[in-house]
Amino acid sequence: MSDERGSSRSVVERARTVIPGGAQTGLRAQAYDLGEIAFSGATGTTLETVEGETFTDYHLAFGPVVLGHGHPEVDDAVTETIDEGVLYGAATTPLEVEVAERVVDLLPSAERVNFCNSGTEATYHAIRLARAYTGNDRVIKFEGCYHGWHDYVDVGVYPPKERIGEKHPESAGMLPEAVEHTEVLPFNDPDAVEAALEEFDDVAAVICEPIPHSVGCLLPEEGFLASLREATAENGVPLIFDEVITGFRHSAHGIQDEFGVTPDLTTLAKAMGNGYPVAAVCGREELMAQAGGDNTSGVVISGTYSGHPVGLAAARETLRLLDEESVVEEISALGERYREGLEGLFAEHGIEGRVVGYGSVFAPQFGVTGEPRRYEDVLRLDEATFEEFARRMRERGQFFTPNPYKRQHLSWAHGEAELEGYLAAADEVLGS
Ligand code: PMP
Repeated sequence: MSDERGSSRSVVERARTVIPGGAQTGLRAQAYDLGEIAFSGATGTTLETVEGETFTDYHLAFGPVVLGHGHPEVDDAVTETIDEGVLYGAATTPLEVEVAERVVDLLPSAERVNFCNSGTEATYHAIRLARAYTGNDRVIKFEGCYHGWHDYVDVGVYPPKERIGEKHPESAGMLPEAVEHTEVLPFNDPDAVEAALEEFDDVAAVICEPIPHSVGCLLPEEGFLASLREATAENGVPLIFDEVITGFRHSAHGIQDEFGVTPDLTTLAKAMGNGYPVAAVCGREELMAQAGGDNTSGVVISGTYSGHPVGLAAARETLRLLDEESVVEEISALGERYREGLEGLFAEHGIEGRVVGYGSVFAPQFGVTGEPRRYEDVLRLDEATFEEFARRMRERGQFFTPNPYKRQHLSWAHGEAELEGYLAAADEVLGS
C-alpha cells in the first residue's frame, strides 16, 4: 500500500513544491512539528498515515467529527443522496427543508435558516445581515475569539503579548477600513461592552463565541452572556453567537439553550455534519428575511454550493442522532473523566499546569494555574512543554495538534479503551 501512496516524507516533500507551506492552512502545517506526516485514512477514533501507522485521534479535524470518523449512518445517507443527484442549484429540495426544519426545531434562536459551507461564510453572512438591519458599520468582538478568516472578524484573535487590547489584524492583506471598524474587547468584561456601546453610535453587531474554544476554553463568568444580551437589546444591536464549535457538540440545542441566553443570530458549522462541509446562519425572522430577495434587493446570501446535498445529507443524519440519542451526554461525561484523569496526573507528578475544557473538549495547559477568564490568561502558558507533550504523546499513538493554544475533542466513538490508552500514555510522558 505504502508503495502506491509513497511514504509520508515523499508526500510532504511533493506537497511543499506545490502547496504553500505543504498543507492547506498554516495550522495544519503545524502538525509537521510532530514529524513529517501525511494521512490517508480515518475510521472511528483512528487516524492512519500513508505508511499504515495508526493514532487515536483527539484532533478530529479541529472538532467536526463528533460521532467518530466514517459513521455508517451518516456516510450511507451521503451515498444514497449522491445516487439521487449531486447538485441542483435551483429552487429548493426536500432535504434542505428537512434540515432547516430540524435546526429551527433544535435551536432557540433559529426562526429561519440559510445554509453555506463553512463557519467563515456563516459569520460573514451574519455580519452582513446585522449591518444591513442596523445601517451601521462597526462590529464588536472579543480577544481570543476566532470567527473565520474574512476581514470583518480576523482581528484581535491571537495578538502577541505586546499587541493585546489593539486592533491587531491577523493577516497581511486585510482591508484597513474593515480592521478600523472592528472593536476588540476583553472577554468576560461586561463594563467594557457597556462602555463601547456608549462610546460608539454606529455598532452593527456584537459577535462572540459563547465559550471561546479558539484559545482552549474560556468559560463565561456567571451573567456575562446575559449582560451581553441585555446591553445589545437596549441599544438595538443584534447579538451574534458563533456556535461553530459549541453548537451541537455541547448541546443538541446549542450552548445558547444550556446557558439560557438567546442571540439574534447564530452561526453553525463543524459538528452539524460530522466532517462533511456544511454550515448555517440562522436567527430571528426579521433579520433573516432581509436575505429573501431576488439578489437585486436586500441582503445577498449566495453560493453555488450553498445547501449542497452532500453536506445536508450528513447534517440530516448527524442532527437526528444528536437529537435522538444521548451522544452529547455520553461524550461530555467522558470529557469530564479525561479532565479529571489528566488533573490527577498533573498532581501526582507535580506538574504546574491546569486542564481546561467543557463537555467533550479539553486542553492541558502547562505553566499556568487558575481559571482562565480572558485571552491574556492563556497567553502566559508554556508553549515548549506542550509541544514536547504532544510529540511524546504522538510517539505513544495519541494524536492532537501541537499548537498549545488549541484543544482536544472527543467523539461518540471514543470510550473506555481510548480513555485508558490516553491516560496511560500521559502517565508515562508526565512522569518522566
Ligand atoms: N468560528 C469558530 C468559533 C471557529 O472555531 C471556526 C473554525 N475554527 C470558524 C468560525 C470558521 O469556520 P471555518 O473554518 O469552517 O470557516
